[in-house]
Amino acid sequence: MRRQSDTDPARGQPEIDWDGQMRPYVTELSVMFAIGGLSALAISGYAAYRFLTGDWVDGLVNTGIFSAIAVTLLLARIERWQRVAMMLFGIVITLSCLASALLIGSNGLLWAYLVFWVNTFLLLHPAALVLNASAILTLGLQSRLFASTLEQISWVTVAVMITAFGMYYAGQMRRQRRMLRRLATHDPLTGIGNRRLMQHRLEQAVNESRENQRPCTLVVLDLDHFKQINDSHGHEAGDQTLRRFARQLEDSLREGDDIYRMGGEEFVMLLRDMNLDAARQAIPKLHRRLSGGVDGPDGPICFSAGAATLKKGESWSRWLARADHALYEAKHSGRNSLIVAE
Ligand code: GH3
Ligand code: MG
Ligand code: MG
Repeated sequence: MRRQSDTDPARGQPEIDWDGQMRPYVTELSVMFAIGGLSALAISGYAAYRFLTGDWVDGLVNTGIFSAIAVTLLLARIERWQRVAMMLFGIVITLSCLASALLIGSNGLLWAYLVFWVNTFLLLHPAALVLNASAILTLGLQSRLFASTLEQISWVTVAVMITAFGMYYAGQMRRQRRMLRRLATHDPLTGIGNRRLMQHRLEQAVNESRENQRPCTLVVLDLDHFKQINDSHGHEAGDQTLRRFARQLEDSLREGDDIYRMGGEEFVMLLRDMNLDAARQAIPKLHRRLSGGVDGPDGPICFSAGAATLKKGESWSRWLARADHALYEAKHSGRNSLIVAE
């Protein structure tokens, strides 16, 4: 039966903090807020100084830049606008840097280095490349901004190198992040989603169901007498059986359904768009089809299962606890059986 786990919120333990691991662009956004906030602060100081010294044109240019940055930062606070906000932020800081260099003076060339790096960090490679190349060409060809040809060539060379290394670094960071997310959310033995991913997806399913009334059913499965395989044939044989069983579950899924390894020899199936009536019909069939469908070292592997359909207003942990309780009853009714919770 299910073992008590240290991090099980259903049993009153603290929930896992998902934010850092599951929200996309979390690093990009924090960099955007830090750099955008600091730049806006610095630029507002410039603008105030220009107005105080009677330089209205520069004052207005700086106020325009400050406002555009502030708008993109505000937009980035709305989750579904975050990608657009990052793209706009890249465009705003690139245009601001061009305006500053072309209208105010060559110190905009120094800001450009920061802008080129931020673009490679925040934006996808093609977008960063287009913005940076356009800005390098526009500024690099303005001989009047440079004291000498050597200075002009040096500026262009450094700008190209910052863009190239920035893109390389951002590519490495994104690859590592994909790998970390995969390690954090998938079970290394079977390759299917782990308990952490399951919790996240159950929370999502509860929220979606609250919004669009879509019914959802989950099934908790536990292999029967699995320990005997380990005891008689060794851990490796047990591992192989678990891998084969997980493959069989995966192959049986409909589009949109998910399976997770909750721990040990316990798995969870999340069946979307399935109400209680459909569950009562479909899940016994599923159990008959799958239980005994995989061969272990001593013959067919059977399992017991408990199913529960999400109730209105129910939390994911309560939902899971009801399915788990049904599994407990199925085990006690003699194993290789299934109970659908009312
Ligand atoms: P029941 O029918 O009551 O479920 O009996 P059972 O033997 O399946 O249940 P029990 O909970 O007593 O044993 C589960 C076993 O699963 C114990 C543990 O050694 C084994 N197990 C857990 N994780 C792994 C794993 O990753 N690999 C292998 N080979 N065995 C595992
Ligand atoms: Mg078990
Ligand atoms: Mg078992």
